[in-house]
Amino acid sequence: MPDNSKPELIRFGTVGSPQTTPRPGTPAAIEHIRLLGLDHLEIAWVQSVRVSDETCAEIKAAAHQHQVTLSIHAPYYINLNSQTADLMRKSDERLLMAARKGFLAGARDIIFHPGSYHEQPPDQVYERAKEKLLEIRQLLDDEGVDVTLRPETMGKPAMFGSLDEVIQLSRDIPGVLPCIDFAHLHARTGALNSYEEFASILETLKAGLGQEGLATLHAHLSGIAYSARGEREHLPLNEADLHYRDLLQALVDYEVSGAIAVEAPEPFHVADALTLQATYRRLVETGQDENLVKNTDES
Ligand SMILES: [Zn+2]
Repeated sequence: MPDNSKPELIRFGTVGSPQTTPRPGTPAAIEHIRLLGLDHLEIAWVQSVRVSDETCAEIKAAAHQHQVTLSIHAPYYINLNSQTADLMRKSDERLLMAARKGFLAGARDIIFHPGSYHEQPPDQVYERAKEKLLEIRQLLDDEGVDVTLRPETMGKPAMFGSLDEVIQLSRDIPGVLPCIDFAHLHARTGALNSYEEFASILETLKAGLGQEGLATLHAHLSGIAYSARGEREHLPLNEADLHYRDLLQALVDYEVSGAIAVEAPEPFHVADALTLQATYRRLVETGQDENLVKNTDES
């Protein structure tokens, strides 16, 4: 029986259509996500946004029919700190298109890579990115495009998008919230891979955005290979060093709700999403006692 005092369960899904989807097209992928017992699909418009309004309407109807929530991964080539006017214009257009078409397709959240420092001072890059995002947010608001823009935490120290930066953008701009990529945060420095460190990430989120920040989490999760320069590639969960059970326990303890999209490489893409979902649900069922013990320990 659902208990209203408990947080809503986190919805798990994949970034991009499951490999096992029997037909091409996003509506088929949505139907397949439901068949697999997953609850979320992050549509990967990562090269470009080329989708008709009619297709968007079909995607929205399929999501409604199958009770699958949607997010959009916007094109990779977005950079809020683009270095020429032409590149900046193209970057703006990609983010705007992802948001407009995503909204038509029924997605609530638009995920994007915020950009590069280009070896400029982080404070200066932050101010530029903030101004740019304010401008884009205003355009979307004027058009009635009701989506949340979510800059993603990036996996390389040379990339703009630390945890603090995406939280600060979310504080400074209404309609912006972070996408927390736990694998990227781990790969950025090699740290952030224990229960205490995962809890500290959630404490930082809560301090910056309140309990609401934890109740509306959007996260990416997968195993990851990395070097001193950060992220190399995504790995299957059980070929990587990420202590995902500790992370899931922290999410249970902090009463996190929202969606987690999995980026594991094929053929582990769906398998890892199901493993994470099953592990999480087991921890929710058994987590209450551990929760009490932990809270007592910490106080
Ligand atoms: Zn991403």
